Amino acid sequence: MIAPEFIDELLARTDIVEVVQSRVVLKKTGQNYTGLCPFHKEKSPSFSVSQDKQFYYCFGCQASGSALKFLMEFERLEFLAAIEMLAGNAGMQVPQTSSQGSPERNERRKSIYNILEQSAHFYQAQLKQNSHKAQAIDYLKARGVSGEIARDFGLGYAPPGWDNLYKDQAKTNLEHDLLIESGMVVNNKDEDKTYDRFRDRIMFPIRDIRGRVIAFGGRILGEGQPKYLNSPETPVFHKGRELYGLFEARKRTQKLTQLLVVEGYMDVVALAQNNINYAVATLGTATSGEHLERMFRLVSRLVFCFDGDNAGRNAAWKALAVALPLMRDGRSARFLFLPDGEDPDSLVRKEGKDKFEWRLDQAQPLPDFFFNKLQADIDIKSLDGKAHLSNLAMPMINEIPSGVFKQLMIEQLSILTGLAADKLVAASASVAARYVPSAPKSKPTMSEPAPPGAQDTFQQGMSRQDLTSPANNSRENIEFAKLVNMAIAMLLRQPELSQQFDEKAYSRLEAGPGSELLLELIHAIVAREITSPVMLLATWQDRPEFDYLRDLIEQEQLLDVSELPEEFTGVINTLLRLTDVQSGQLLRADLLSKPFDEMSESEREMLKNLVKSRHNRK
Ligand SMILES: [Zn+2]
Repeated sequence: MIAPEFIDELLARTDIVEVVQSRVVLKKTGQNYTGLCPFHKEKSPSFSVSQDKQFYYCFGCQASGSALKFLMEFERLEFLAAIEMLAGNAGMQVPQTSSQGSPERNERRKSIYNILEQSAHFYQAQLKQNSHKAQAIDYLKARGVSGEIARDFGLGYAPPGWDNLYKDQAKTNLEHDLLIESGMVVNNKDEDKTYDRFRDRIMFPIRDIRGRVIAFGGRILGEGQPKYLNSPETPVFHKGRELYGLFEARKRTQKLTQLLVVEGYMDVVALAQNNINYAVATLGTATSGEHLERMFRLVSRLVFCFDGDNAGRNAAWKALAVALPLMRDGRSARFLFLPDGEDPDSLVRKEGKDKFEWRLDQAQPLPDFFFNKLQADIDIKSLDGKAHLSNLAMPMINEIPSGVFKQLMIEQLSILTGLAADKLVAASASVAARYVPSAPKSKPTMSEPAPPGAQDTFQQGMSRQDLTSPANNSRENIEFAKLVNMAIAMLLRQPELSQQFDEKAYSRLEAGPGSELLLELIHAIVAREITSPVMLLATWQDRPEFDYLRDLIEQEQLLDVSELPEEFTGVINTLLRLTDVQSGQLLRADLLSKPFDEMSESEREMLKNLVKSRHNRK
């Protein structure tokens, strides 16, 4: 945890152009710098860096962000490492005090890292010199683990006996406490005995992304239980987010392009031994969203490796469900099921790198696994079966972020069921509407953005709102949503258009539903004096509407820039008229519930205007 003030100060002292320019060739073009995007392959430059906004954006792949984000993505650094690198450049010292804790607490964490590092050294030394080492060495040799791999992964040996590590490391009371706190030894208070957690095991140090030892995994030698044992949760180790082998994978690979997710440490080591250097293992927990986020930050391709049996398939299905909300365009996930009785360790030793990588290439893409699994128990030929399939699939597909991938999944379902894609979306939207008694009042169309090119979907997103808000009429709503969509698209092209917007128009639109995002954009443009689309987009970077806005920017532009001001005015005027009608309807319902003689003068005036405007529209 680093204080936000420090990050502000750091970014203030950093020039993004300098940071980018030392890594990407940039050319000054007008206000901005442009170059070939480092995040996707391209021949003509669509990558732009703004010096005044201290922001980069790629019109090709939509990569965008600050200098900090650039470093994280380009150098594939974690947040803290990127902060440290920037601070180094800026000659600033990253403050040691964290918002979580006092300096004492940080000292304590440092001491825990130290004792873990020393423990790793102890185990490594035992593998070389302990009188019982033969059993451990035989185990590793039988698995073809070379000295080089053992060194790279820091493998060690916890000899048999109750307190080898404890006796060696706990020279002081502080060390005694630290060994307990780091999970290396266990203290039995009743008997007042302290003993080593790991005994008679091959030891696998678990390192964080910076290479610090944060925990251990131990594999039993011989028949004892449990076969695998991990460190407990400690101040420096959180099972649900750490991945065994990630540090080593990054160290041993020039450029990671994919990660292979396996179950055990020995799988990771055996794969590395066979020159497959991109395997990682979760630590005795199911794959979490946090695991996946971390991996997708480094690579766009994941392959999950599971046993071919039922348990393996169920675990794979769980991983798929966790992955769906993270499947943004450009990311891929595949599923490899191993032959009976094999694990990656045994298989790669038997078959070697080429055959194993061939298997990886054959792994089922997420859509195949998804539809195969869903179809397995359904008679897809019957009408019932088709309906059942779409009912099972659509709620899951709806978890996928809007984009081409989601659209392809819907189309695939459409092919399987023979139901038109827009019908599927409509059906799932109305199901959702029925089961959500009170949909959020604002931004129905914005929180459910349309996939690019899917006008029907967009309308359906709107009709979900219709079903839940009685005052709305769906045909008018669709027209309204389209107009808001157009206005926002124009603003994204030319933020200055917001100057045509006066306060009166603002409050008129505010009175009705459906233009919340449009108004917010206008407000942001005026308040922050935003002049470039990139900057406008940047302001929405952390918002759920970001993808929707980005898609709008991407859409083909039919209008010429010179036509924009007039068109914008036209659209806004129509919106104003529709809003007045709509808020009028709400008001009317309210007014009509009151006897005329109980109305105030202004309410009577409103009612008269309402009647007049209804009349005019007919
Ligand atoms: Zn790009």
